Amino acid sequence: MPVITIQSKLPNVGTTIFTVMSALAAEYNAINLGQGFPDFMMNSQLVELVNKAMRAGNNQYVHMNGLPSLTERLAEKMQLLYAAAINATDEITITPGGTYAIYTALTTVLKPGDEVIVFEPAYDSYIPNIIINGAIPVLIPLTYPTYSIDWELVKTNISSKTKMIMLNTPHNPTGSILSSFDIEQLRSIVKDTGIFILSDEVYEHLIFDNRQHESMLRYPDLMERSFVCFSFGKTYHCTGWKLGYCVAPAALTKEFRKVHQFNCFSCHSPVQFALEKFINQKEQYLQLGAAIQQKRDYFQQLMQQTKFKGLPSYGSYFQLYSYADASEENEKELAIRLTKEYGVATIPLSSFYNKEKDDKVLRFCFVKKESTLEEAVNRLMKF
Ligand code: PMP
Ligand code: GLN
Repeated sequence: MPVITIQSKLPNVGTTIFTVMSALAAEYNAINLGQGFPDFMMNSQLVELVNKAMRAGNNQYVHMNGLPSLTERLAEKMQLLYAAAINATDEITITPGGTYAIYTALTTVLKPGDEVIVFEPAYDSYIPNIIINGAIPVLIPLTYPTYSIDWELVKTNISSKTKMIMLNTPHNPTGSILSSFDIEQLRSIVKDTGIFILSDEVYEHLIFDNRQHESMLRYPDLMERSFVCFSFGKTYHCTGWKLGYCVAPAALTKEFRKVHQFNCFSCHSPVQFALEKFINQKEQYLQLGAAIQQKRDYFQQLMQQTKFKGLPSYGSYFQLYSYADASEENEKELAIRLTKEYGVATIPLSSFYNKEKDDKVLRFCFVKKESTLEEAVNRLMKF
C-alpha cells in the first residue's frame, strides 16, 4: 500500500472529450471539427493592441474585479444591446474565461445537498462543477429533435432543495436557443422563490437568421437572481486567451468576488487594456452572427452530399448531424472511426449526457475556413 492515497472528489470523471478528440485528431492527422475553436486568424488589430499594451508597460496586476475602463465599456455594451442598467463597479467581474465564471458562480451559491436543475445534453463542465460542491444535479432532458425545454417537467422537478437553474443560450452542443415563451415560463416558475439562475451566454453574438438573443440581462425580474457568464474567446475568435466575465447583481457579485479573489485574484492585464479599446468597434460583434451563419449555411449545403442529416442550429459554433439512416454504430465508436479512418474528428452527443445514451448524433464545429469545411466534407462523402 502506498503511504499517500488520494480519494477522488470526482470518481466518475475522466478526461474531457474535447481533449480526447483533439488528441486523436492530432494523432491521426484528422481535420478537427470536434473541439469548438476557429481555425482562422483572429483580428490582427486586436493582436496589435495587446502587443502595444505590453510595450507600454501594462504588465502588472490590474484590479481584482477587472480593469475598470473595460468593465465600464462592458456596462455600456449591455445597455446598448439589452437595455440593461448594469453597474460596472459592483456588478461585473472579469474572469479567466467563461468556464471559470460558471464554476465560481456555482461555488458561490451551492451548499452540500442543494439541487441544481441542469438540462441535458449539457456542456461538460456543469455536472462535475455541481458535484464538487457537494450539490446534486437534477437532470432534465431537452426534447428531441428541437432540444427545447419541457417546462412541465421542470415544474415537477422543482423541490424545496432547488437552489439554481442552469441555462445555456445559444446552446452547446445543440445550437438551440431560448425563445420568449421560454422566458415567460422561467419567469413564472422562479417568481416568489429563492431560486438562482446561472445563464451561460458565451455564444450571445453567435445567433442566426435574425433571431433575438434572450439574455437574462433583458429582464430585471430574472436578472435580480442571475449570474450571467460570457467569454471574450468566442466573440473575438481567441478561445486560447481564456478571458470572460460574470454579470450579477451587487449582492451576488460581492459573494462571487469572495471566491474569485482567492482563486485567481486578477486576470491577464495586457488583453484587458487591448479589449477596452477594441470593444468600441461595435461592428465586430454586431456582424458576427451573420458572418458565422454563412459558415453554418455553407457547411450545411456541403453536408447534403453525405449521409449525415443536419438538425437545426440557431446559434453557437455547432450543428448536430444524425447518422441514424447510415449506421448502427454507437456515437463514440463512430466518432473514433471517422477520425481514424476518414480523417474527420467530431464530438459524440452522448458525451454531453451523464448516463449512457446513443441517439446516433454527432456534433460538428463549423467555425472553420471554407477550405477546411470543403476538405472535411470530401472525406465524409466516402462514409
Ligand atoms: N460555456 C459553453 C457552453 C462553452 O461552449 C464554452 C466554450 N469553451 C464555455 C462555456 C467556456 O468558455 P471559455 O473558453 O471562455 O472558458
Ligand atoms: N467549448 C468548447 C467546445 O464545446 C471547448 C472548450 C474546451 O475544450 N474545454 O468544444
